[in-house]
Amino acid sequence: MERAVLTSASTVTLAKISAGNNDVSDQFRNFSIVVLVSIFSTSSVLAADENSGVREISASVYSFTLGEGNHSMFVIGEDGVAVFETFHSGHSQKLIEAVQSVTDKPIKYAFISHNHWDHASGGQVFSNAGAQTVMHQRAADWVAANPGRDTALPDITWSENRKDFDMGDFAVTAQYLGLNHGMGLTIFTVPERRVAYIADLVSPNRVMFSVVPDFNIGEWERSLGEILEMDFDIAVCSHNELPIEEAMDGCTLTHVEEERQFIRDLRNAILAEFEKGTGFMDIPKAVRLPQYSHWVGYDEWLEMNTLRLMTDLWMGPFPWVPDAQ
Ligand SMILES: [Zn+2]
Repeated sequence: MERAVLTSASTVTLAKISAGNNDVSDQFRNFSIVVLVSIFSTSSVLAADENSGVREISASVYSFTLGEGNHSMFVIGEDGVAVFETFHSGHSQKLIEAVQSVTDKPIKYAFISHNHWDHASGGQVFSNAGAQTVMHQRAADWVAANPGRDTALPDITWSENRKDFDMGDFAVTAQYLGLNHGMGLTIFTVPERRVAYIADLVSPNRVMFSVVPDFNIGEWERSLGEILEMDFDIAVCSHNELPIEEAMDGCTLTHVEEERQFIRDLRNAILAEFEKGTGFMDIPKAVRLPQYSHWVGYDEWLEMNTLRLMTDLWMGPFPWVPDAQ
């Protein structure tokens, strides 16, 4: 577990933020180096000379990772390639090389799932390579108002709850399910290939991320129910804490179900402590969910997860804005 937590990019970011450096973008650059060093000095799974892994998970559908906890996907068609999630410029450059290692078809679109800097950076690399970057309008508006050092405004935005992008022999269906996490978070499916790309709402083999930042818990749970109804067999989840060999094979509906069950189990455990009359500040330490003790982050983050859900149950759902559905 120790190594797995160390390879979580976000964990290292938080460690550096708490160390007192005020420039988040510098921390982002630094943690990438730290994480790469840590994983490639301990992992024999990924080729040392490549520092990256690409794997075909379905017919002409590939997962890609640099090994720092971020997973992208790309789908090759007759006319071109659709790429999902740019993360940051270093990742994007290697992702382009990975695409070019398996096809000479042009990259048509680079789809970006939502506004957060740790996902929405690096798009300029794809625009420079001749692709068109795509974000939901809500994500693009946020990035315009809150630019990160490595973010760029998208070439294309869309505003509906659903939009289909024609790729010739397949279509990419982009669905905005509401205010579940960040702004404009989009679930992508490719029905012809029965695959999906899911950012942040499903992270296999891991408890919720630290203090559960920028999640509307109820909407998250509801959205997972909608994802369970979607038409796919296998997905790439942006953060996947299964052992890397398994993580590169992607995630499934079982992982979507497990994520939803974790939310429910944690909420029920908190409500049980409320019922017992356990003191508010004693509840985070009192709640234990041993059935998840093998999940990454259980020892470090369960108390934070608990406190975050408690505030939601106490104050009402947040964040929330009007007309976000
Ligand atoms: Zn996010």
